[in-house]
Amino acid sequence: MPEAAAPTSFDLVVLGGGSGGYAAALRAAELGMSVAMVEKDKVGGTCLHRGCIPTKALLHAGEVADTARDGASFGIQTSLDKVDMPAVVAYQQAVVAKLYKGLQGLVKSRRITVIEGTGRLVAPDTVEVDGTRYTGRDVVLASGSYSRSLPGLDIDGQRVITSDHAIALDHVPVSAIVLGGGVIGVEFASAWTSLGVDVTIVEALPRLVPAEDEAVSKMLERAFRRRKIGFRTGVRFAGVEHTDDGVRVSLENGDTLDAELLLVAVGRGPATAGLGYEEAGVRVDRGFVPVDERLRTNLEHVRAVGDIVPGLQLAHRGFGQGIFVAEDIAGLNPAPIDELGIPRVTYCDPEIASMGLTEAQAREEYGAENVATVQYDLAGNGKSQILKTAGFVKLVRRVDGPVIGLHMVGSRMGEQVGEAQLIFNWEALPSEVAALLHAHPTQNEALGEAHMALAGKPLHVH
Ligand SMILES: Cc1cc2nc3c(=O)[nH]c(=O)nc-3n(C[C@H](O)[C@H](O)[C@H](O)COP(=O)(O)OP(=O)(O)OC[C@H]3O[C@@H](n4cnc5c(N)ncnc54)[C@H](O)[C@@H]3O)c2cc1C
Repeated sequence: MPEAAAPTSFDLVVLGGGSGGYAAALRAAELGMSVAMVEKDKVGGTCLHRGCIPTKALLHAGEVADTARDGASFGIQTSLDKVDMPAVVAYQQAVVAKLYKGLQGLVKSRRITVIEGTGRLVAPDTVEVDGTRYTGRDVVLASGSYSRSLPGLDIDGQRVITSDHAIALDHVPVSAIVLGGGVIGVEFASAWTSLGVDVTIVEALPRLVPAEDEAVSKMLERAFRRRKIGFRTGVRFAGVEHTDDGVRVSLENGDTLDAELLLVAVGRGPATAGLGYEEAGVRVDRGFVPVDERLRTNLEHVRAVGDIVPGLQLAHRGFGQGIFVAEDIAGLNPAPIDELGIPRVTYCDPEIASMGLTEAQAREEYGAENVATVQYDLAGNGKSQILKTAGFVKLVRRVDGPVIGLHMVGSRMGEQVGEAQLIFNWEALPSEVAALLHAHPTQNEALGEAHMALAGKPLHVH
């Protein structure tokens, strides 16, 4: 008997197998749909192979190096002999490989058809891959993002690199200039400094992590100064030239900086060019795919998720959106995702975690007289003192109303974002959180103490 032809018609066709795409595929399959997922590289996308996971492994290796270096300050005589970069990369890749294997198993067990190759939307219900057309009752666009550069700034992958190259570096550069003081820039600056690189960050806006509350930026800058991480803020990049042993970056104020490498971390653009979206009738705005709150594009059965949708470019947003579209298509009528309710963590040392509005945004939205804040210093938190970290928990509330912003900075404070997101998303009053006991001694207590202070009953606060 001749072999049956592979199916080309599905309930759902997903274009892109990153965080957004694979979450949509997994949930849709769980809900009984037949699903095809088109992926030109590796399922898992940026987050697993070039983003979240490898960078956090690099940061962890950096933390181990710092611990070895700083042992004596805890009474333990240790020293850092050497950073073996190929071994760091091997550790990082082993973590990625294990998760990749698990993900592939998951995709297989849900009977998702993975189509390897570059897909192109040739009609609202059809994706073409290598000449074969796959149709879906619904289509999810999830093609992700790429590292942006600036006009005239050519990435050569050797001296002028992006995060894609930086995670795979097999040696520790002597020095590096990091162009961009946002999330990706400060994470690499932090990890590299821990591994022994002499780093200078260049940021055009007046402060590092400019999307965060101003107090957080100040605290991070203070901590980075202490760690001898150089930074220039409020100054624009003008150009780069190659030198005998690296690069020379010139700034618009006339200054020049020399280093072995330039890491370009000026943001990520939507990967939508040349994929047929506009030709098939999907509205595209400056490369992004606009959607309504149910993540529908302008075409009825075409949804978009992840980094191609304007907003926060975060893996867990992609997961959430993927799950949402699968459930919505299945008729489960899920609640739309509130973009402000998405937790944000920057994993540099010290870590930053935030929810909701900054103080400036809250004042703008509600009027200064209707907003109250409290800043609880980690100097009063036992566990933070044990870890020798500085930082704070800052809360923003509506006067006589709920907490509308939580901003935390300090070693390991990213782990506190879980409670912070419950407080924000459940619109808790400071008095309600203050009534809950927080285990002692934990850094989590700092959240409890800050709420007690905001509720007018501070304990360990002067
Ligand atoms: C250095 C770095 C660190 C990061 N750290 C974090 C972090 O700590 N936490 C966090 O939440 N987020 C982090 N992110 C962001 C996170 O990686 C992204 O938000 C997330 O990967 C977006 O998911 P996505 O599905 O939209 O796109 P992607 O993950 O980019 O996936 C898109 C997929 O589509 C495929 N594709 C594209 N076009 C086609 C085509 N024509 N045919 C077939 N396949 C195609 C690609 O190969 C890719 O696999 C980081 C990003 C970077 C770069």
